[in-house]
Amino acid sequence: MNSLERLLYYPLGDAMPQQGETLEVRAGAGSGLAPAVKWVRMGLPFALNHINLWLLRDELGGRSGWTVVDCCITRDETKAQWEQVFATQLEGLPILRVIVTHMHPDHIGLAHWLCERWQAPLWISATDYYAARVGSMSTTGFGGAAAADFFASHGLTDPESIAKIRGRASYYPGMVPQVPPRFHRLQDGQVVRIGGRDWRCISGYGHAPEHIALYCEALEVLISGDMMLPKISTNVSVHDTEPESNPLQAFLDSIDKFRQLPAETLVLPSHGKPFVGLQERIRQLHEHHRDRLAEVMQACATAPRSAADLLPVLFKRKLDLHQTTFAMGESVAHLHALWFVGKLRREFCSDGVYRFTTA
Ligand SMILES: [Zn+2]
Repeated sequence: MNSLERLLYYPLGDAMPQQGETLEVRAGAGSGLAPAVKWVRMGLPFALNHINLWLLRDELGGRSGWTVVDCCITRDETKAQWEQVFATQLEGLPILRVIVTHMHPDHIGLAHWLCERWQAPLWISATDYYAARVGSMSTTGFGGAAAADFFASHGLTDPESIAKIRGRASYYPGMVPQVPPRFHRLQDGQVVRIGGRDWRCISGYGHAPEHIALYCEALEVLISGDMMLPKISTNVSVHDTEPESNPLQAFLDSIDKFRQLPAETLVLPSHGKPFVGLQERIRQLHEHHRDRLAEVMQACATAPRSAADLLPVLFKRKLDLHQTTFAMGESVAHLHALWFVGKLRREFCSDGVYRFTTA
């Protein structure tokens, strides 16, 4: 646990569900704690080593069953783990609905399989639905030539890395081979009735095209997806499909929307452990990015810098290729946040690389 994490409270301690099992999370004030969700945890084959998924008791179209929030990636191990959950954790009831917080592979990868298997509808924001469909059919935004050219224009010129990124054409479709053919649209402010309780959609930007978190006032529970994580800071990247975006500002504006929620809100994040300390975590994330922005300003004050030049400034550890692509996107995001407010100037240099200097 790092020093910032100590300022958060983990009501479940180190308890977590075993593979193929669930852990009941109870919440809500007043007349004692009510069962809120069943927590499912599944392994991931990359640095982010697990994802949390949630099962909520539901009634839909006169049937009793479960709504599942997020799905994990498509692979045989994940399907096997879901089969165990179906066989032992659903109390003999079906999955009635699949809600997906956003289009990243660990969240939507198996939605097609879950929806098909249970004849259950998919609920997701329209923006993320279409981004996932495009991603599953092409290489857009997640590798391939366009990503390689984009990173090169921000100074990642090492031929081996560029060749690998260029060759990584099936990154997204490999984990999200299909997306369900139909969906129900989720939008900011919309209230979804799940198991007799109201859950309000809170949209978030900067991490995914249109991330949807769900808040239940009766339980004081926030299913935060990737918008609010207890330990790591959410990835905020500029991608080749929207090369002049300002996702860091969008992210910081979005997490401020959670300030209206009660301090004692139980946050159910997609990675890490359920925690209490939402207001403290919002403060920490602002501080974290303020510090990174100050470092970027300092580096750009002495010489023009590319996003690649800033990797050792922003990330003080050795990065593998997968981490380098994420780090490059983050580095551009920090430069853009300062460029958008006029603190940095951008220049397209004769070697084909963007560099930034203090204005
Ligand atoms: Zn994500």
